[in-house]
Amino acid sequence: MDLLNTLVDKGLRRELPTREEALAVLATSDDDVLDVVAAAGKVRRHWFGRRVKLNYLINMKSGLCPEDCSYCSQRLGSTAGILKYTWLKPDEASEAAAAGLAGGAKRVCLVASGRGPTDRDVDRVSATIKTIKDQNEGVEVCACLGLLSEGQAERLREAGADAYNHNLNTSEATYGDITTTHTYADRVDTVRKAHAAGLSACSGLIAGMGESDEDLVDVVFSLRELDPDSVPVNFLIPFEGTPLAKEWNLTPQRCLRILAMVRFVCPDIEVRIAGGREVHLRTLQPLALHLANSIFLGDYLTSEGQAGKADLEMIADAGFEVEGTGEVTLPEHRAARAGGGGCGSHAEAGGCGGSAGCGSHDEGGACGSHGGGGVCGSVPAAAPAPDKAAAAVATAAEPVVGEARPDLVAVRRRGTGTDLAPNA
Ligand code: SF4
Repeated sequence: MDLLNTLVDKGLRRELPTREEALAVLATSDDDVLDVVAAAGKVRRHWFGRRVKLNYLINMKSGLCPEDCSYCSQRLGSTAGILKYTWLKPDEASEAAAAGLAGGAKRVCLVASGRGPTDRDVDRVSATIKTIKDQNEGVEVCACLGLLSEGQAERLREAGADAYNHNLNTSEATYGDITTTHTYADRVDTVRKAHAAGLSACSGLIAGMGESDEDLVDVVFSLRELDPDSVPVNFLIPFEGTPLAKEWNLTPQRCLRILAMVRFVCPDIEVRIAGGREVHLRTLQPLALHLANSIFLGDYLTSEGQAGKADLEMIADAGFEVEGTGEVTLPEHRAARAGGGGCGSHAEAGGCGGSAGCGSHDEGGACGSHGGGGVCGSVPAAAPAPDKAAAAVATAAEPVVGEARPDLVAVRRRGTGTDLAPNA
């Protein structure tokens, strides 16, 4: 296919595709999906080899948010039966970080619900970052605390944060349809503040909220313009108890096309499969590793992911390898730029490691001031967690718009905020 040959050539040269080319990737048929994956996989391997970076989410403060992001189980008015708790103590967060690192993660993402941090919250998170770094050598830390005020990014950077996550989530044109309590411009401003403070900027999107192909291309081109080091791609987890609970409109093939489009537009940027990986890609998850070079290990903020052990087995079975703490995530030209924000995993000069995944609260990364992909969920408190493997087998490939799928969404009931061990 000429389109794919052109996009591979451009990706290897770090040349931006046209909007029409990006739209054409999204418009390819299911019959062509393996060709699309193979083409985008060439670009992925050129810049990132077969490495997969593992990131680990720590939900520092869960639920009770005053913002109204439609996709979020922690939003104002959400009736999702998620865990609700206030700030973790530094030692509790450090213990959670140690579990993630033991499972193979090299970055931890500290996420808190809310519009944005107070100065006291920044003090609190700064103390947590110091504790985690003192107790876990070599760890990269990304903060995801919502909208930042003047000076807060600098303070987080001084405290040792490597990165800051805040997702754009969707196109500027549709932003007002999913959230009314803050604006798209607010989000762009926070990503710029993080960048300016020398933090590695992480910013991504949520797919599956009813947006058009044009919206998806718009947000990905906007992200590319902001020049983050990492782009988490969340697939909406439609939680019962949120306005988007019935928005089931993704197929595994559609998810692969979206990831391929993001890879072609952001060839040398860390692309992370964030929340919704298990729910929407299901048995096609391994194919997505040919497109993205980063995932979250284990559970998400308010929903459960597949077991960390299953993540590691999937990576090995698909012929990929977990990126080590001594390896630099980003290609040399990116890792070497900006003294503080370059990311690349512990290059001597202080680059971080490749960007994180949260989203100011997406699911994958947190919420949407906090991201989207993986966060919350809404399954009645008494419901047992579904068997993910069985659910995957039983699930039809075609999306079912308008019907809730509690069999695919499990509220997190282990790890931080509970007495149970995490599944990292
Ligand atoms: S995405 Fe973040 S800001 Fe929005 S409702 Fe959820 S926790 Fe609050």
